[in-house]
Amino acid sequence: MNESMEQRLERIKDRIEAACIRSGRDSSSLLLVAVSKTYPPEAVDMLARLGCRVFGESRVQEAAQKIPLCASGLDWHGIGHLQRNKAAMAVALFSRLHSIDTVRLLEKVESCAASAGRNVHACLEVNVSGESSKYGFAPDEVPGVLEVLPRLRYVQVDGLMTIAPFAQDPEDSRVHFRRLRELRDKWVREVGWPLKELSMGMSGDMEVAIEEGATMVRVGTALFGPRPKPGGSV
Ligand SMILES: *Cc1c(COP(=O)(O)O)cnc(C)c1O
Repeated sequence: MNESMEQRLERIKDRIEAACIRSGRDSSSLLLVAVSKTYPPEAVDMLARLGCRVFGESRVQEAAQKIPLCASGLDWHGIGHLQRNKAAMAVALFSRLHSIDTVRLLEKVESCAASAGRNVHACLEVNVSGESSKYGFAPDEVPGVLEVLPRLRYVQVDGLMTIAPFAQDPEDSRVHFRRLRELRDKWVREVGWPLKELSMGMSGDMEVAIEEGATMVRVGTALFGPRPKPGGSV
């Protein structure tokens, strides 16, 4: 049976609430980022009417086309790999970038944000699993990156992000989410830079991520339904 958007949102909220209860957390400490990539403005507006306020887009070009067509007053996050030549657009569109994956990108975003006079929040993407197909800093690169942060004035790096390798069983993601949290705790201890946000968990593994300390979950298909195939019919 085809579930309505409202039913899907209720189910996500139930899943989030249950995971929070299991891990003794307050669900108000958790941000649901509705990942709207590939979905039309109408779907965004429907979720906005149901109370969702924060939306995530992977591609700057798609976001630039879509955002003006959506309800105003929404908060947009960039969640995908960002090329440096799109940094100025990203700064104009997004209040948070989840996927800073090189120092050169970080410095480019800082200079674009300075030119635009805009502040942007950011997470460093960490390739915890070491999969070669993934973007992100290797864990041993991160302490060096943290040394750069105090001289940034417009980009506020306040967290880490990771994507677990694809797995059928969400429990397989746990080790990666736990590792990100443990690395975060160690770096905060050693470097003293606060990293309160952990952006981890998607449709398939959000409960495990919450149990391991996620503060932001990025949920697409479980909210919007099966993703339309590029160029094909649904
Ligand atoms: C697409 C995407 C998501 C959402 O994935 P779903 O499985 O549809 O929930 C989350 N994070 C990133 C970085 C993505 O690209």
